[in-house]
Formats: sequence, structure tokens, C-alpha cells
Amino acid sequence: MLNALTIDVEEWFHICGVPSLGRAAWDQLPSRVERTTRMVLDLCDRTNTRATFFVLGWVAERWPQLVADIAAAGHQVGSHGFVHDRAYDLGERRFTEDVRASIAAIEATGSRPTCFRAPEWSINGRSMWALDALARERMTLDASMAPVRIVGDVRFPRTPHVRTTAAGPVTEVPPLVTDRFGQVMPIGWGWALRSSTPSTVLRTIEKANQAGAPAVLTVHPWEIDPDPPHVALPARLRFAHYYRLQGFAGRLRQILESARFESIDACLSSSAFLPSAS
Ligand SMILES: [Zn+2]
Repeated sequence: MLNALTIDVEEWFHICGVPSLGRAAWDQLPSRVERTTRMVLDLCDRTNTRATFFVLGWVAERWPQLVADIAAAGHQVGSHGFVHDRAYDLGERRFTEDVRASIAAIEATGSRPTCFRAPEWSINGRSMWALDALARERMTLDASMAPVRIVGDVRFPRTPHVRTTAAGPVTEVPPLVTDRFGQVMPIGWGWALRSSTPSTVLRTIEKANQAGAPAVLTVHPWEIDPDPPHVALPARLRFAHYYRLQGFAGRLRQILESARFESIDACLSSSAFLPSAS
């Protein structure tokens, strides 16, 4: 079975909820996104992997050639919004404007995105209107609802499914989670993916595949930066952003070499898995 690799294309400083890293600071901070995204492209090439790249509009506007190169390498290009604000912080009107701005910036590079991922998994019980807004902007797929506590909801489905919105259906594709010590653990992304051994991640992928579902992993270019800039962050964010970065590129490569990964589009259309309406 095919699985899906997703990449959120953003800078190391695109962290929600840190006032000192607000938009006014971005042009003064050292940019790493082009170099590190090209490292991700190289890793995909070496492991014969295709992925869905959710590109931030702000990045597409500054590095249009990078986005064109992602598409030219056979990957799917989606949107990660424009300014990297959480959906529920923006509210419906500003969220819609942000999605439109990201579509325009990405379209200018040659790809019209039809899939979306909100910053910090921020489509949840506080912002379900966002799915209607996405459908109105002709997005057909969303990958923003994490079935975990804090950023999402453990009651969210763990497999791809179709959600009905006021403006049409949207296929929702959740990231990979696992149960450990009575808790739901985000093993498909972030600190949990970085700190798990490749064999543990591969076993979890195998288990999902045996149950008939593709596994969806998420990686940020800054997570494989060999020389990542650091800023002072509150404890929870420090853990989410810096824990176990060391050696992650090598562990990720082992995972990509040992299971089959494609873009979300290719994964859903070629797998025997058929999303059911909910
Ligand atoms: Zn992000």
C-alpha cells in the first residue's frame, strides 16, 4: 500500500503564537527555507519518494522558482496559507482572504493548489467553518485535522474521509497517530516522529496499512537543517521545535527507504482505500 509524505514548506521562524517572531521580524531573520526545501527534494529524489508540499504563500511569493521546481520534480503543490496564522485566530473572513492570497501566490509559480493544510493543525472544533471556506475557494482536500489532544481532537477520524460542507465535499486526510500508554501520540509528525526509531514508525505504518489505511507523515524543511538557527521559545514550543532534531535526516531517510510514499493525491487515487462520506 502507498502512504503519503507531506511537507509544510515554511521558514524555521514560522511558529504560531510567538510575538517576537511576528511578521514584522521575518525580513530581518536569516532565511533557510530555500536551502532546506532543496534538501528535502534531494532526499525525495534519492529515496524515489513523491510528496505533497504545502507551501506557505509568503514563501511562494519570495521563492517562485523553488515552488516551480517542486512541481517539476513530480510532487503535488498545496497551500499552507499565506501568513502562517491559525485558522481560529484569523476568523472566517480573514482566513478566506489568507487562503485566497496563498492561492494567488502559488498560482503565480504555475500550480493551482487544490489541497490545504492549516498552520498548527488549526482546523478543529473552534474553526469548522474553515472547511466551508476552503470548499468555496475550490479546495477539494484538507489535511488540517489532527486526531490528538491540544491542537486537535482525539474523536476526529484517523483515516481519510469525505466531509460535507455548505459549498461541497472536502476529503479530509488526517496525520498518523498511535496509542501509547493510554494516550494518543502524534507519531507521524513533530517531536514524536523525530524521537521515534525508524523501526517503531515503520511498525505503526504497517499496522495502519494492514487495517486498510494509508499512513500520512509530515515533515518541515527546518527539521532537517544541519545548522538550525535557535531562538528562545516557551517550554512547549521549544520541545515541539527543537527536541531530537539531531540525526533526524538520517532516520527519515531510513523510513522513506523502507516504505512506499507518494503525494496525497496519488496515494488516495491508487490505493484500494475508498473514503466514505461522513
Ligand atoms: Zn506550519
